[in-house]
Amino acid sequence: MTNYVAEPFKIKTVEPIRMTTREERSEKLREANYNLFGIDSDDVYIDLLTDSGTGALSDAQWAGMMRGDESYAGARGFKRVEAAVRDIFNYKYVQPVHQGRAAEQVLFPTLLTQGKKCISNMHFDTTRGHVDLLGAKPVDLVVSEAKDTRNFSPFKGNMDTVKLERYIEEAGAEGVGLIIMTITNNSAGGQPVSMANMRGTSRIARKYGIPVIIDAARYAENAHFIKMREEGYADKSIIEITREMFSYAEAFTMSAKKDAIVNMGGLIGVRDDQELYEKVRGLTIPYEGFVTYGGLAGRDLEALAIGLYEGTEPDYLRYRIGQVEYLGGLLAKKGIPFQYPVGGHAVFLDAKEFLPHIPYTEFPGHTLACELYIEAGIRCCDIGSYMMGNDPETGEQLKSEMEFTRLAIPRRVYTQSHFDIVALALENIKKRASEIKGYRITWEPPVLRHFTAKLEPLK
Ligand SMILES: *Cc1c(COP(=O)(O)O)cnc(C)c1O
Repeated sequence: MTNYVAEPFKIKTVEPIRMTTREERSEKLREANYNLFGIDSDDVYIDLLTDSGTGALSDAQWAGMMRGDESYAGARGFKRVEAAVRDIFNYKYVQPVHQGRAAEQVLFPTLLTQGKKCISNMHFDTTRGHVDLLGAKPVDLVVSEAKDTRNFSPFKGNMDTVKLERYIEEAGAEGVGLIIMTITNNSAGGQPVSMANMRGTSRIARKYGIPVIIDAARYAENAHFIKMREEGYADKSIIEITREMFSYAEAFTMSAKKDAIVNMGGLIGVRDDQELYEKVRGLTIPYEGFVTYGGLAGRDLEALAIGLYEGTEPDYLRYRIGQVEYLGGLLAKKGIPFQYPVGGHAVFLDAKEFLPHIPYTEFPGHTLACELYIEAGIRCCDIGSYMMGNDPETGEQLKSEMEFTRLAIPRRVYTQSHFDIVALALENIKKRASEIKGYRITWEPPVLRHFTAKLEPLK
Protein backbone atom coordinates (compact mmCIF):
# COMPACT_ATOMS: atom_id res chain seq x y z
CA MET A 1 0.00 0.00 0.00
CA THR A 2 1.09 3.55 -0.69
CA ASN A 3 1.91 5.71 2.32
CA TYR A 4 0.21 9.05 2.61
CA VAL A 5 2.55 11.96 1.85
CA ALA A 6 1.93 14.54 4.58
CA GLU A 7 0.72 17.97 3.53
CA PRO A 8 3.58 20.43 2.90
CA PHE A 9 1.48 23.18 4.50
CA LYS A 10 -0.59 23.88 7.59
CA ILE A 11 -4.21 25.00 7.53
CA LYS A 12 -5.10 28.65 8.23
CA THR A 13 -8.75 28.85 7.17
CA VAL A 14 -11.42 26.15 7.32
CA GLU A 15 -14.77 25.65 5.63
CA PRO A 16 -17.36 23.43 7.38
CA ILE A 17 -18.92 20.49 5.54
CA ARG A 18 -22.04 18.60 6.55
CA MET A 19 -23.11 14.97 6.41
CA THR A 20 -26.71 14.26 5.35
CA THR A 21 -28.81 11.08 5.76
CA ARG A 22 -29.23 8.52 3.01
CA GLU A 23 -32.96 9.41 2.76
CA GLU A 24 -32.15 13.10 2.31
CA ARG A 25 -29.61 12.29 -0.40
CA SER A 26 -31.97 10.00 -2.33
CA GLU A 27 -34.54 12.80 -2.31
CA LYS A 28 -32.00 15.47 -3.37
CA LEU A 29 -30.84 13.29 -6.23
CA ARG A 30 -34.41 12.73 -7.42
CA GLU A 31 -35.11 16.48 -7.24
CA ALA A 32 -31.96 17.08 -9.31
CA ASN A 33 -33.27 14.71 -12.02
CA TYR A 34 -30.38 12.35 -11.24
CA ASN A 35 -27.88 14.89 -12.52
CA LEU A 36 -25.11 15.48 -9.97
CA PHE A 37 -24.43 18.95 -11.38
CA GLY A 38 -27.91 19.85 -10.12
CA ILE A 39 -27.11 19.09 -6.45
CA ASP A 40 -26.43 21.99 -4.06
CA SER A 41 -22.87 21.89 -2.71
CA ASP A 42 -24.31 22.28 0.81
CA ASP A 43 -25.76 18.80 0.35
CA VAL A 44 -22.38 17.29 -0.58
CA TYR A 45 -20.00 15.88 2.03
CA ILE A 46 -16.86 15.25 -0.05
CA ASP A 47 -16.92 16.99 -3.42
CA LEU A 48 -14.85 15.18 -6.03
CA LEU A 49 -16.87 16.45 -8.98
CA THR A 50 -13.88 18.27 -10.38
CA ASP A 51 -10.42 19.57 -9.56
CA SER A 52 -11.27 22.67 -11.61
CA GLY A 53 -11.29 25.93 -9.70
CA THR A 54 -11.87 24.03 -6.45
CA GLY A 55 -8.33 24.33 -5.03
CA ALA A 56 -7.38 26.27 -1.91
CA LEU A 57 -5.42 29.47 -2.46
CA SER A 58 -2.20 29.95 -0.50
CA ASP A 59 -1.57 32.87 1.86
CA ALA A 60 0.77 34.28 -0.80
CA GLN A 61 -2.06 34.21 -3.36
CA TRP A 62 -4.48 35.91 -0.95
CA ALA A 63 -1.87 38.57 -0.25
CA GLY A 64 -1.40 39.00 -4.00
CA MET A 65 -5.13 39.51 -4.41
CA MET A 66 -5.00 42.50 -2.08
CA ARG A 67 -2.34 44.01 -4.35
CA GLY A 68 -4.50 43.41 -7.44
CA ASP A 69 -4.58 46.38 -9.81
CA GLU A 70 -8.10 46.81 -11.14
CA SER A 71 -7.21 49.23 -13.94
CA TYR A 72 -9.07 48.55 -17.17
CA ALA A 73 -5.93 48.80 -19.30
CA GLY A 74 -2.30 48.07 -18.53
CA ALA A 75 -2.89 46.53 -15.10
CA ARG A 76 0.20 45.32 -13.20
CA GLY A 77 -1.24 41.81 -12.91
CA PHE A 78 -1.02 41.35 -16.67
CA LYS A 79 2.73 42.07 -16.59
CA ARG A 80 3.18 39.56 -13.78
CA VAL A 81 1.29 36.84 -15.64
CA GLU A 82 3.23 37.61 -18.81
CA ALA A 83 6.55 37.38 -16.97
CA ALA A 84 5.53 34.05 -15.38
CA VAL A 85 4.49 32.56 -18.74
CA ARG A 86 7.72 33.73 -20.40
CA ASP A 87 9.73 32.17 -17.61
CA ILE A 88 7.88 28.87 -17.10
CA PHE A 89 6.88 28.09 -20.70
CA ASN A 90 9.35 30.21 -22.67
CA TYR A 91 6.46 31.60 -24.76
CA LYS A 92 6.69 35.15 -25.97
CA TYR A 93 3.01 36.04 -26.07
CA VAL A 94 0.28 35.53 -23.49
CA GLN A 95 -3.41 36.34 -23.49
CA PRO A 96 -5.39 35.90 -20.26
CA VAL A 97 -9.01 34.72 -20.59
CA HIS A 98 -11.62 33.83 -18.01
CA GLN A 99 -11.20 30.03 -18.23
CA GLY A 100 -10.02 27.17 -20.43
CA ARG A 101 -13.03 26.98 -22.71
CA ALA A 102 -12.74 30.72 -23.38
CA ALA A 103 -9.19 30.07 -24.56
CA GLU A 104 -10.64 27.44 -26.92
CA GLN A 105 -13.35 29.81 -28.13
CA VAL A 106 -10.79 32.50 -28.95
CA LEU A 107 -7.93 30.40 -30.35
CA PHE A 108 -9.69 27.64 -32.30
CA PRO A 109 -11.34 29.82 -34.99
CA THR A 110 -7.86 31.15 -35.86
CA LEU A 111 -6.63 27.60 -36.62
CA LEU A 112 -9.64 25.46 -37.54
CA THR A 113 -12.32 25.79 -40.19
CA GLN A 114 -15.44 23.84 -41.13
CA GLY A 115 -14.87 20.32 -42.40
CA LYS A 116 -11.27 20.05 -41.14
CA LYS A 117 -10.14 17.24 -38.89
CA CYS A 118 -8.80 18.07 -35.46
CA ILE A 119 -6.62 15.26 -34.09
CA SER A 120 -5.89 14.85 -30.40
CA ASN A 121 -4.51 12.22 -28.08
CA MET A 122 -7.98 12.79 -26.56
CA HIS A 123 -10.24 15.82 -26.65
CA PHE A 124 -11.51 17.05 -23.32
CA ASP A 125 -15.30 17.57 -23.39
CA THR A 126 -15.32 21.37 -23.84
CA THR A 127 -12.52 21.06 -26.39
CA ARG A 128 -14.58 18.56 -28.36
CA GLY A 129 -17.54 20.95 -28.00
CA HIS A 130 -15.63 23.86 -29.53
CA VAL A 131 -14.33 21.72 -32.40
CA ASP A 132 -17.92 20.56 -33.07
CA LEU A 133 -19.25 24.13 -32.92
CA LEU A 134 -16.81 25.15 -35.69
CA GLY A 135 -18.07 22.30 -37.88
CA ALA A 136 -14.70 20.55 -37.67
CA LYS A 137 -14.34 16.89 -36.74
CA PRO A 138 -12.61 15.77 -33.52
CA VAL A 139 -10.54 12.57 -33.85
CA ASP A 140 -9.00 10.84 -30.78
CA LEU A 141 -5.87 8.75 -31.37
CA VAL A 142 -4.72 7.79 -27.88
CA VAL A 143 -2.40 4.77 -27.54
CA SER A 144 -4.21 1.45 -27.09
CA GLU A 145 -2.61 0.89 -23.63
CA ALA A 146 -4.96 3.60 -22.34
CA LYS A 147 -7.90 1.28 -22.93
CA ASP A 148 -6.47 -1.52 -20.81
CA THR A 149 -7.18 -0.26 -17.30
CA ARG A 150 -5.40 -3.18 -15.56
CA ASN A 151 -1.86 -2.87 -16.80
CA PHE A 152 0.83 -0.46 -15.81
CA SER A 153 2.14 1.65 -18.60
CA PRO A 154 4.00 4.84 -17.66
CA PHE A 155 2.51 7.12 -20.34
CA LYS A 156 -1.02 6.00 -21.11
CA GLY A 157 -1.88 9.54 -22.22
CA ASN A 158 0.31 9.37 -25.33
CA MET A 159 -0.77 9.95 -28.90
CA ASP A 160 -0.53 6.83 -31.07
CA THR A 161 1.99 8.31 -33.50
CA VAL A 162 1.74 5.37 -35.93
CA LYS A 163 -2.01 5.88 -36.22
CA LEU A 164 -1.47 9.64 -36.41
CA GLU A 165 0.79 9.45 -39.45
CA ARG A 166 -1.46 6.89 -41.12
CA TYR A 167 -4.50 9.06 -40.48
CA ILE A 168 -2.82 12.15 -41.97
CA GLU A 169 -1.71 10.16 -45.03
CA GLU A 170 -5.24 8.88 -45.57
CA ALA A 171 -7.10 12.13 -44.86
CA GLY A 172 -4.49 14.25 -46.67
CA ALA A 173 -2.49 16.86 -44.74
CA GLU A 174 -4.69 19.67 -46.06
CA GLY A 175 -7.73 18.00 -44.46
CA VAL A 176 -6.18 18.16 -40.98
CA GLY A 177 -6.45 21.59 -39.39
CA LEU A 178 -4.89 21.06 -36.03
CA ILE A 179 -3.27 18.65 -33.58
CA ILE A 180 -4.08 19.10 -29.88
CA MET A 181 -1.99 17.39 -27.21
CA THR A 182 -3.87 17.22 -23.93
CA ILE A 183 -1.43 17.06 -21.00
CA THR A 184 -2.12 15.22 -18.85
CA ASN A 185 -4.70 13.32 -20.85
CA ASN A 186 -7.77 14.04 -18.74
CA SER A 187 -10.30 11.80 -20.50
CA ALA A 188 -7.91 8.82 -20.54
CA GLY A 189 -7.65 9.01 -16.76
CA GLY A 190 -5.35 11.97 -16.12
CA GLN A 191 -2.59 9.93 -17.72
CA PRO A 192 0.67 11.63 -18.67
CA VAL A 193 2.20 12.21 -22.09
CA SER A 194 5.92 11.48 -22.39
CA MET A 195 8.47 13.93 -23.74
CA ALA A 196 9.39 11.40 -26.43
CA ASN A 197 5.76 11.26 -27.55
CA MET A 198 5.43 15.04 -27.60
CA ARG A 199 8.63 15.25 -29.67
CA GLY A 200 7.44 12.49 -32.02
CA THR A 201 4.04 14.08 -32.52
CA SER A 202 5.63 17.44 -33.23
CA ARG A 203 8.03 15.88 -35.76
CA ILE A 204 5.12 14.34 -37.70
CA ALA A 205 3.10 17.57 -37.51
CA ARG A 206 6.00 19.64 -38.86
CA LYS A 207 6.56 17.16 -41.67
CA TYR A 208 2.96 17.71 -42.84
CA GLY A 209 2.77 21.40 -41.96
CA ILE A 210 0.05 20.97 -39.30
CA PRO A 211 0.12 23.23 -36.22
CA VAL A 212 0.36 21.62 -32.77
CA ILE A 213 -1.18 23.16 -29.69
CA ILE A 214 -1.14 21.97 -26.10
CA ASP A 215 -4.23 21.74 -23.93
CA ALA A 216 -2.14 22.69 -20.94
CA ALA A 217 -4.41 22.50 -17.88
CA ARG A 218 -2.11 20.04 -16.08
CA TYR A 219 1.33 21.10 -17.32
CA ALA A 220 2.97 20.67 -13.92
CA GLU A 221 1.51 17.26 -13.07
CA ASN A 222 2.58 16.03 -16.50
CA ALA A 223 6.11 17.36 -15.92
CA HIS A 224 6.20 15.63 -12.53
CA PHE A 225 5.36 12.28 -14.17
CA ILE A 226 8.08 12.82 -16.79
CA LYS A 227 10.58 13.54 -14.03
CA MET A 228 9.54 10.38 -12.15
CA ARG A 229 9.13 8.00 -15.10
CA GLU A 230 11.06 9.05 -18.20
CA GLU A 231 14.73 8.34 -18.65
CA GLY A 232 16.93 11.40 -18.71
CA TYR A 233 14.62 13.70 -16.75
CA ALA A 234 15.17 12.72 -13.10
CA ASP A 235 17.63 15.57 -12.52
CA LYS A 236 15.77 18.23 -14.48
CA SER A 237 13.53 20.72 -12.72
CA ILE A 238 9.77 20.85 -13.33
CA ILE A 239 10.21 24.18 -15.11
CA GLU A 240 13.02 22.87 -17.34
CA ILE A 241 10.84 19.91 -18.32
CA THR A 242 7.88 22.23 -18.96
CA ARG A 243 9.95 24.48 -21.23
CA GLU A 244 11.09 21.55 -23.34
CA MET A 245 7.54 20.12 -23.56
CA PHE A 246 6.14 23.43 -24.78
CA SER A 247 8.95 24.00 -27.28
CA TYR A 248 7.26 21.30 -29.42
CA ALA A 249 4.04 23.30 -29.87
CA GLU A 250 3.05 26.58 -31.48
CA ALA A 251 0.54 27.67 -28.88
CA PHE A 252 -1.38 26.50 -25.82
CA THR A 253 -4.79 26.88 -24.28
CA MET A 254 -4.94 26.55 -20.51
CA SER A 255 -7.58 26.24 -17.88
CA ALA A 256 -5.67 27.88 -15.03
CA LYS A 257 -8.25 26.41 -12.64
CA LYS A 258 -6.22 23.19 -12.52
CA ASP A 259 -2.44 23.25 -12.02
CA ALA A 260 -2.22 27.03 -11.68
CA ILE A 261 -4.45 26.66 -8.57
CA VAL A 262 -6.82 29.60 -9.07
CA ASN A 263 -10.58 29.59 -8.68
CA MET A 264 -11.07 31.28 -12.04
CA GLY A 265 -8.73 31.94 -14.95
CA GLY A 266 -7.36 30.77 -18.24
CA LEU A 267 -4.56 31.52 -20.66
CA ILE A 268 -3.62 31.40 -24.29
CA GLY A 269 0.11 31.22 -24.95
CA VAL A 270 1.71 31.75 -28.35
CA ARG A 271 5.35 30.66 -28.67
CA ASP A 272 6.58 33.24 -31.19
CA ASP A 273 4.04 33.62 -34.03
CA GLN A 274 3.20 37.31 -33.86
CA GLU A 275 0.52 37.08 -36.55
CA LEU A 276 -1.33 34.39 -34.60
CA TYR A 277 -1.04 36.45 -31.43
CA GLU A 278 -2.57 39.48 -33.17
CA LYS A 279 -5.54 37.34 -34.27
CA VAL A 280 -5.95 36.09 -30.70
CA ARG A 281 -5.94 39.63 -29.32
CA GLY A 282 -8.46 40.67 -31.96
CA LEU A 283 -10.95 37.98 -30.90
CA THR A 284 -10.31 38.42 -27.18
CA ILE A 285 -11.69 41.95 -27.09
CA PRO A 286 -15.26 41.10 -28.24
CA TYR A 287 -15.42 37.77 -26.38
CA GLU A 288 -13.47 38.33 -23.16
CA GLY A 289 -12.66 42.00 -22.71
CA PHE A 290 -9.62 44.19 -23.15
CA VAL A 291 -6.37 42.30 -23.71
CA THR A 292 -4.69 43.09 -20.38
CA TYR A 293 -7.51 41.61 -18.30
CA GLY A 294 -9.21 39.08 -20.59
CA GLY A 295 -12.35 38.47 -18.52
CA LEU A 296 -10.51 38.46 -15.18
CA ALA A 297 -10.36 40.85 -12.26
CA GLY A 298 -6.93 42.35 -11.54
CA ARG A 299 -6.77 40.33 -8.31
CA ASP A 300 -7.38 37.11 -10.27
CA LEU A 301 -4.35 37.91 -12.42
CA GLU A 302 -2.18 38.30 -9.32
CA ALA A 303 -3.35 34.97 -7.89
CA LEU A 304 -2.69 33.36 -11.27
CA ALA A 305 0.85 34.74 -11.59
CA ILE A 306 1.66 33.24 -8.17
CA GLY A 307 -0.26 29.98 -8.72
CA LEU A 308 1.56 29.24 -11.98
CA TYR A 309 4.72 28.84 -9.86
CA GLU A 310 3.17 27.18 -6.80
CA GLY A 311 1.83 24.40 -9.02
CA THR A 312 5.39 23.52 -10.05
CA GLU A 313 6.90 23.22 -6.54
CA PRO A 314 8.40 19.73 -6.08
CA ASP A 315 7.17 19.18 -2.48
CA TYR A 316 3.69 20.21 -3.47
CA LEU A 317 3.66 17.91 -6.50
CA ARG A 318 4.95 14.96 -4.46
CA TYR A 319 2.13 15.47 -1.94
CA ARG A 320 -0.45 16.13 -4.66
CA ILE A 321 0.24 13.04 -6.74
CA GLY A 322 0.86 11.15 -3.48
CA GLN A 323 -2.72 11.81 -2.38
CA VAL A 324 -4.11 10.35 -5.58
CA GLU A 325 -1.78 7.36 -5.27
CA TYR A 326 -2.85 6.83 -1.66
CA LEU A 327 -6.51 6.62 -2.68
CA GLY A 328 -5.58 4.28 -5.55
CA GLY A 329 -3.67 2.08 -3.07
CA LEU A 330 -6.71 1.77 -0.78
CA LEU A 331 -8.96 0.85 -3.71
CA ALA A 332 -6.51 -1.72 -5.06
CA LYS A 333 -6.48 -3.44 -1.66
CA LYS A 334 -10.29 -3.64 -1.73
CA GLY A 335 -10.37 -5.02 -5.28
CA ILE A 336 -12.08 -1.98 -6.76
CA PRO A 337 -11.19 -1.54 -10.45
CA PHE A 338 -9.70 1.73 -11.70
CA GLN A 339 -7.45 3.07 -14.42
CA TYR A 340 -4.03 1.86 -13.30
CA PRO A 341 -1.74 3.59 -12.55
CA VAL A 342 -3.75 6.48 -11.11
CA GLY A 343 -3.62 9.79 -12.93
CA GLY A 344 -2.33 13.10 -11.67
CA HIS A 345 -5.58 14.72 -10.63
CA ALA A 346 -8.02 11.89 -10.16
CA VAL A 347 -8.75 8.23 -9.71
CA PHE A 348 -10.83 7.00 -12.63
CA LEU A 349 -12.95 4.08 -11.47
CA ASP A 350 -13.51 1.47 -14.16
CA ALA A 351 -17.31 1.45 -14.09
CA LYS A 352 -17.51 -0.99 -17.00
CA GLU A 353 -15.81 -3.57 -14.81
CA PHE A 354 -17.47 -2.49 -11.56
CA LEU A 355 -20.96 -2.76 -13.11
CA PRO A 356 -20.51 -5.24 -15.98
CA HIS A 357 -24.27 -5.86 -16.27
CA ILE A 358 -24.96 -2.21 -17.26
CA PRO A 359 -24.47 -1.50 -21.00
CA TYR A 360 -22.99 1.79 -22.29
CA THR A 361 -26.48 2.95 -23.33
CA GLU A 362 -27.44 2.89 -19.64
CA PHE A 363 -24.36 4.83 -18.50
CA PRO A 364 -22.37 2.74 -15.99
CA GLY A 365 -20.03 5.65 -15.13
CA HIS A 366 -22.93 7.90 -14.29
CA THR A 367 -24.68 5.12 -12.36
CA LEU A 368 -21.69 4.57 -10.10
CA ALA A 369 -21.41 8.33 -9.50
CA CYS A 370 -25.06 8.41 -8.34
CA GLU A 371 -24.44 5.44 -6.03
CA LEU A 372 -21.49 7.21 -4.37
CA TYR A 373 -23.66 10.21 -3.67
CA ILE A 374 -26.41 8.10 -2.15
CA GLU A 375 -23.94 5.99 -0.16
CA ALA A 376 -21.89 8.73 1.48
CA GLY A 377 -22.62 12.17 0.03
CA ILE A 378 -19.57 11.92 -2.22
CA ARG A 379 -20.02 13.76 -5.50
CA CYS A 380 -18.12 12.79 -8.66
CA CYS A 381 -18.92 12.44 -12.35
CA ASP A 382 -19.03 10.24 -15.44
CA ILE A 383 -16.25 10.30 -18.01
CA GLY A 384 -17.70 7.85 -20.49
CA SER A 385 -20.56 7.41 -22.93
CA TYR A 386 -22.87 9.64 -20.88
CA MET A 387 -20.40 12.53 -21.17
CA MET A 388 -19.54 11.78 -24.79
CA GLY A 389 -23.08 12.34 -26.00
CA ASN A 390 -24.54 11.68 -29.43
CA ASP A 391 -22.99 11.65 -32.88
CA PRO A 392 -23.74 15.17 -34.25
CA GLU A 393 -24.47 13.68 -37.70
CA THR A 394 -26.59 10.63 -36.88
CA GLY A 395 -27.86 11.59 -33.43
CA GLU A 396 -26.94 8.14 -32.17
CA GLN A 397 -25.44 7.56 -28.74
CA LEU A 398 -21.64 7.38 -29.06
CA LYS A 399 -19.90 4.45 -27.41
CA SER A 400 -16.95 5.48 -25.27
CA GLU A 401 -14.18 2.89 -25.19
CA MET A 402 -13.82 3.48 -21.48
CA GLU A 403 -16.58 3.96 -18.94
CA PHE A 404 -15.10 5.89 -16.05
CA THR A 405 -16.41 7.40 -12.85
CA ARG A 406 -13.95 10.14 -12.03
CA LEU A 407 -12.95 10.95 -8.48
CA ALA A 408 -11.22 14.29 -9.08
CA ILE A 409 -9.14 15.57 -6.19
CA PRO A 410 -9.27 19.32 -5.50
CA ARG A 411 -5.85 20.80 -4.74
CA ARG A 412 -4.84 21.39 -1.08
CA VAL A 413 -8.41 20.77 0.13
CA TYR A 414 -9.00 17.26 1.55
CA THR A 415 -6.93 15.21 3.99
CA GLN A 416 -6.14 11.54 4.52
CA SER A 417 -9.34 10.66 6.42
CA HIS A 418 -11.52 11.96 3.60
CA PHE A 419 -9.88 9.46 1.28
CA ASP A 420 -10.42 6.65 3.80
CA ILE A 421 -14.16 7.48 3.72
CA VAL A 422 -14.24 7.39 -0.09
CA ALA A 423 -12.61 3.96 -0.12
CA LEU A 424 -15.02 2.63 2.51
CA ALA A 425 -18.04 3.91 0.56
CA LEU A 426 -16.85 2.11 -2.57
CA GLU A 427 -16.30 -1.09 -0.61
CA ASN A 428 -19.92 -0.93 0.56
CA ILE A 429 -21.23 -0.27 -2.95
CA LYS A 430 -19.21 -3.19 -4.29
CA LYS A 431 -21.17 -5.59 -2.03
CA ARG A 432 -24.44 -4.69 -3.76
CA ALA A 433 -23.03 -3.93 -7.23
CA SER A 434 -24.97 -6.67 -9.05
CA GLU A 435 -28.34 -5.21 -7.92
CA ILE A 436 -27.61 -1.68 -9.18
CA LYS A 437 -29.63 -0.49 -12.18
CA GLY A 438 -28.62 1.95 -14.93
CA TYR A 439 -30.20 5.19 -16.13
CA ARG A 440 -32.13 6.60 -19.07
CA ILE A 441 -32.01 10.21 -20.33
CA THR A 442 -35.41 11.94 -20.38
CA TRP A 443 -34.20 15.33 -21.68
CA GLU A 444 -30.89 16.56 -23.13
CA PRO A 445 -29.45 19.69 -24.80
CA PRO A 446 -27.59 19.41 -28.15
CA VAL A 447 -24.00 19.89 -26.86
CA LEU A 448 -22.26 19.21 -23.52
CA ARG A 449 -25.38 17.49 -22.28
CA HIS A 450 -23.95 15.99 -19.11
CA PHE A 451 -24.08 19.34 -17.31
CA THR A 452 -27.84 19.79 -17.66
CA ALA A 453 -29.45 16.55 -18.92
CA LYS A 454 -32.32 15.01 -16.94
CA LEU A 455 -32.33 11.30 -16.21
CA GLU A 456 -34.34 8.60 -14.49
CA PRO A 457 -33.28 5.28 -12.99
CA LEU A 458 -34.30 2.14 -14.89
CA LYS A 459 -36.56 -0.33 -13.09
C1 LIG B 1 -10.84 21.87 -17.54
C2 LIG B 1 -10.30 21.59 -18.86
C3 LIG B 1 -10.63 22.37 -19.97
C4 LIG B 1 -11.66 23.49 -19.91
O1 LIG B 1 -11.32 24.45 -19.00
P1 LIG B 1 -12.41 25.29 -18.16
O2 LIG B 1 -11.55 26.17 -17.32
O3 LIG B 1 -13.22 24.32 -17.37
O4 LIG B 1 -13.23 26.05 -19.13
C5 LIG B 1 -10.04 22.07 -21.18
N1 LIG B 1 -9.18 21.05 -21.29
C6 LIG B 1 -8.84 20.27 -20.25
C7 LIG B 1 -7.86 19.15 -20.43
C8 LIG B 1 -9.38 20.51 -19.01
O5 LIG B 1 -9.06 19.72 -17.98
